[in-house]
Amino acid sequence: MELIDGNQIASTIIAELKAEVTGITGRKPCIALVRVGEDPASVSYVRKKEKTAAEIGITSRIILPPITISQTDLIRQVADLNADESVDGILIQSPMPKHIDELLVFRAIAPEKDVDGLGTMNLGKVAQDDDTGFVSCTPAGIMALLARSGVDLKGKHVVVIGRSLLVGKPVALLALQKKAGANGTVTICHSGTSNLAEITRQADVVIAAIGRPEFVKQDMIKPGAVVIDVGINRVPDESRKSGYRLVGDCAFAEVSTIADKITPVPGGVGPMTVAMLMSNTVKAYRQREVK
Ligand code: NAP
Repeated sequence: MELIDGNQIASTIIAELKAEVTGITGRKPCIALVRVGEDPASVSYVRKKEKTAAEIGITSRIILPPITISQTDLIRQVADLNADESVDGILIQSPMPKHIDELLVFRAIAPEKDVDGLGTMNLGKVAQDDDTGFVSCTPAGIMALLARSGVDLKGKHVVVIGRSLLVGKPVALLALQKKAGANGTVTICHSGTSNLAEITRQADVVIAAIGRPEFVKQDMIKPGAVVIDVGINRVPDESRKSGYRLVGDCAFAEVSTIADKITPVPGGVGPMTVAMLMSNTVKAYRQREVK
């Protein structure tokens, strides 16, 4: 079994981006990080994004609207960032408060600054195999992990568990693209799927994005398969100072005994998401600079 080391692959990508950004004279790429409210996971994700941006040399602008902000006012703030020439990329941290319709906010981001890739235009470009857009960061990170671990999806049966807009759907579309590294035969499963284990046992590559701790067991996996565990779940653990530990959507201890390659949690897909956000921000900067 080979561990797919997301920390190491993300560090390599960040070092490559740092070298690229160091070479930019004049204005550096800039990302606006918008966080509404104080959700603890969001606080730590935005902090991590800010820190990684600084490490690369990307300027970040942190915007913290109050949790009571109305949808109209939030969309107005997005419009201001769209119009701000010094901002290349805009990320609105999810989850947003319940009274905000996240989709409407994502759609309000100008497509050329939508570095999280969740707006209609950029998701549409994924479906059109069009590389000029921004692929949302977690799916892009999964594809980069596979590519940099020497996993070519061509001719492989890829089973994605989960159909969210954030992960399942876009990663399935990416695996399906008629492109080098992709070209997989893709099955998407969800909570309405019958005989899930029967389907996952046929997979050469399983991508689990379910949000249920250790849901995928050894008997759901074909020996020698590649397993990408996207899940990040907090489970209570009184032996830790934090009172919890992070586990994936796969039962790592048992699945890793039969998988050929597997991502750990933490240290698998998670670090890639931030690296791809930075990569998209540099891409947005380049595309805006040549205009
Ligand atoms: P989500 O929006 O809750 O979607 C979960 C998907 O799993 C849904 O499509 C759901 O089906 C499906 N599902 C739930 N129970 C199932 C079952 N018993 N059998 C089959 N399918 C089932 O979650 P998400 O945003 O995609 O995130 C998934 C996981 O990835 C979470 O643990 C999240 O924390 C993690 N995540 C990690 C990163 C990262 O950077 N590593 C980024 C994003 C998310 P239905 O559609 O039928 O409800």
